This record gives sequence, structure tokens and C-alpha cells, in this order.
Amino acid sequence: MFFVKINYISMLPNHSPWIKELKRTRPVVPLDKDLQTDVAIVGGGIAGVTTAFFTLRDTNKKVVLLEADKIAHGATGHNAGQITSYFERGFVNMAEEFGLEMAASGQRAVESAWILIDEIMIQAQLQTPLYRFTGYAGLSSINQILNHLKNNYYRVKGGLPAETIVIAKEWDDIKKIPKEYDNLYSLVSHKDLLDLLETNNQDYIAALSYEKGCTNSALFSEELLGYLIANYKDRFSFHEGSPVSTVMLNDKNGILSVLNYTVTAEKIILCTNGFESFTIINNAGPEIDTKFHASVAGRIGYMSGYVEPLSNPPTAISYFPKRKDGLNDPTGESYFYLTRRPHEHEGKKSYNLVCTGGPEKVLPNGAQYNRADSCPEDVKILIDDFLYSNHNKFREESDFSFCWHGLMGYTPNGIRRIGPEPINPVLLYNLGCNGVGILPSIYGGKKISGFINKEKMLKSIFDPTDQRWED
Ligand SMILES: Cc1cc2nc3c(=O)[nH]c(=O)nc-3n(C[C@H](O)[C@H](O)[C@H](O)COP(=O)(O)OP(=O)(O)OC[C@H]3O[C@@H](n4cnc5c(N)ncnc54)[C@H](O)[C@@H]3O)c2cc1C
Repeated sequence: MFFVKINYISMLPNHSPWIKELKRTRPVVPLDKDLQTDVAIVGGGIAGVTTAFFTLRDTNKKVVLLEADKIAHGATGHNAGQITSYFERGFVNMAEEFGLEMAASGQRAVESAWILIDEIMIQAQLQTPLYRFTGYAGLSSINQILNHLKNNYYRVKGGLPAETIVIAKEWDDIKKIPKEYDNLYSLVSHKDLLDLLETNNQDYIAALSYEKGCTNSALFSEELLGYLIANYKDRFSFHEGSPVSTVMLNDKNGILSVLNYTVTAEKIILCTNGFESFTIINNAGPEIDTKFHASVAGRIGYMSGYVEPLSNPPTAISYFPKRKDGLNDPTGESYFYLTRRPHEHEGKKSYNLVCTGGPEKVLPNGAQYNRADSCPEDVKILIDDFLYSNHNKFREESDFSFCWHGLMGYTPNGIRRIGPEPINPVLLYNLGCNGVGILPSIYGGKKISGFINKEKMLKSIFDPTDQRWED
């Protein structure tokens, strides 16, 4: 991601291809009476819908899902739709915080969501297209390469499979790679490497490859919701246009205020990404509200998409470019990402949609994000620059069919928060988008059903901590 200053000088509306593909006709039916349930889920993005799926499938509990706006219209309807299992922080960094074993099992946990996706697709017979392939990340500096090799070294030490890393054999600095990393990469010709990354930009000198995929997570969530409505008539209900304004926690239950009504539940699961305009009142212990609201930071992610003929297979590639000032990026964190998948355009299926993102803006604490804001011209220019300088193979025209933005919630440690609130376990979380949230949300949904079933859970990197002691 790149942090940018945003000028709203253009009037391009926030127009996401995922929302367009929903072709939604279902009316919004807000809550119109008081309800009593076992589990109330707040937030109807992919986290809320998959949490409902696993809770209904794996427990006998009654579930009510409450969405302030419309199902899957938050980050789930405004993302890149890339299915990937990396964290937005390095493996070494996670191992330093949690220990090698716990970091490795956290990584395995997120990867386990690939199988959960298969389970969902098969059980609910979803038709939403989901493409799987090997995806790549291109690296352009020695620091980036050494960082990724170090992460790979510790992955293997932690019992995880090594990631495939290839380096251009023509690169001058190969001799600077420490001997201990020798068996963690292989050499290929620079030309082959650029072909893998589908770029002509000679700056790229190494590439990582991973299992990746892409889907429309909004369509996936909407279709899954349809399955829940049809199959759990006696135990499931949902209401859109139903913002929760207060979460009141007692010893044995919680009460949600929604419009003029209340929903009383034994367990309340927040699947709100991290942002919500409600107050938490804890009648059974210390205060939670202030810390909760201050501890999730907001970032707006911006994307553009264009349509091209269907001449290439689906892909997902990230690019870690050289800094413009010629210096190496010490963190290796700033990157652009690109996905390509088949797309119906003007009634014909013979097109691809190529989506590119990377630019982000920090939302100051307390500031309101407005989904209706236009897409800023600066972002379009930044993305266009990236595409032209890195991707003249991809892009020959300059008009985007889509540009969109969405809000992401970042927890202080950059890791999704999944599980009961330590101060009052009536409240549980499956939230914190942290940049890459599709697989973690689904894993979180499954894990929440385990908590509700009172299964024994091992300590994990996702456990909510007592926020009173967080920085
Ligand atoms: C630009 C961008 C690109 C991204 N790219 C990727 C990617 O390529 N791969 C990836 O894995 N992840 C990506 N993500 C992140 C991913 O989209 C999210 O992590 C994922 O969709 C999380 O979904 P969620 O259900 O947690 O949150 P959301 O989809 O935001 O859902 C939260 C819901 O809670 C509702 N809500 C909030 N407050 C209340 C309330 N008081 N009462 C009732 N309802 C409420 C909201 O209306 C919203 O619908 C990206 C995100 C953005 C913004």
C-alpha cells in the first residue's frame, strides 16, 4: 500500500464491480419487533455471513444477523477480491511477538480457510466464480529480497513449507545473499522472471509465488446468505437497514438496541470490520467502550479496474517497486497489487476485468468515512502511473470502467481479532480487516462456532487481549 494525500478534484463515483455484479433485487427489511435469540451477529460482510454459516451448521443455536446497511456493501463489496493467506506483516516479526510455534500455527490457521471455502462452496452449492492459481509478488530491492528470505528461513524453522522464491541469475548482488539462505531460492533468467510477473519493468529481480485465488466476495456472501435463508428457516433471520446503536452486556446475556427495538442474545458477535457507531455498556465488569473504539485504526483503500479482451488466464500479482528517490525501501511494505479474472461486459462474457490497488489513506481517529465520496483524481493518476511504468503489457488505454474505495479496520498488532472479549465473554469478535481479510474472516467464522460450541481452544495469535493494557 502507498500512503497518499487525497484531493477530491474529480467526480468519479465510488463504483465497485463487485456491487454491480450483485444485481440485487431483494428489498431491505429492517427490524420491526423485539427479538430473543441465542446468537446475534452484528455486521453482514463476509465475516458476518460466514460466522452465521458455521454457527448454524455446527451448533443448534438460533442466529440473528443485523446489518446497518445492505449485506456485503462494506469492505466485502469494495476490495480487490484476491484470496491470499499472507499477513500484512512479516513472519519473523510475528514470531518475535508470539513465538515461532504460535506464529506458525496462526499462518496454518489462515491457510486452513482454503478448505473451509471448499466446504462452503460444496455444501451451499454456490455458483459464484472462484478462480485458483499460482500468484506472484515481484521484488525490486536487496532489502525486500533479504526480508523475504529471512521470513522464509523462519517459516521453515517453524515447520511451514518454504515459499518458492526465484531470483534473476543476472542480478549483480546475488553474492550478498547470506549462505544460510542458499537452499531457499533458485535462479532463473531475468526474462523468465519478468514473464512470470507479466511486466517489462527491468527493476524486478526476484519473485515469490503462492497459492492465490480471486472471487467476488460480495456475491459469495450474498449467495451464501440465500442458502442460509432457504435452509435454516426455523433458526435464522436477518435484517438489513438495522444499525445497532447500543451493545449492553450483562452477566449472562447482551441486549442490542436497533432502531426502536431490542435483540436479546446469549452471545453477541461483532463482525463489523472494526468500525461501528455504537456504544458498548458493560454492566458486568470494567468499561470496554473507550479502548475498543480507539484501538482499531481506519485506512481507506483505493482501487481502479478496466476491462480488456479475455486473452489471458486469471492471476493475482503484487509489485514491490523501487522507491522513486532511488533508495531501497527499508520496510519493503509499499506495494501495488493487481488481479485479473473473467468478467461479463455489455452482456458478453468474453472479457477480463483487471483491478489494481495500492494507494491508501489513513482515516484520522474519530473522522467519518463516507462511502459516497468520489474517487480522487490523484489515485487514478497514481494507479495509471504504476500501470504504465510496470505494465505496458497489460494496459494500452487509459479509461477505467470502475474506481472504488473501501474502509479497512487495522487492529494494533495487525492481526484479526477472533474470540471472546476477556472482560465479558458474552461479547465475541471476528473483526479487524488488516488489509487481507477474506481468508481470515472465514477462518474466524469457523472458530467462533467452536467458541459457541464450548470447544477447547488453544491459545492463538488471534485471541483478543484485554484492551485496557494495550498501547
Ligand atoms: C480496497 C480494499 C482492498 C482489499 N483487498 C483485499 C484482498 O484482495 N484480499 C483480502 O483478503 N482482503 C482484502 N480486503 C479486505 C477485505 O475486503 C475485508 O477484510 C473483508 O471483506 C472483511 O469483511 P468484514 O465482514 O470483516 O467487513 P465488512 O465487509 O466491512 O463488513 C462489516 C459490516 O458491518 C456493518 N456494520 C458496521 N457497524 C454496524 C452496526 N453498528 N450495526 C450493524 N451493522 C454494522 C457494516 O455496514 C458492514 O456491512 C480489501 C479491503 C479494501 C477496502
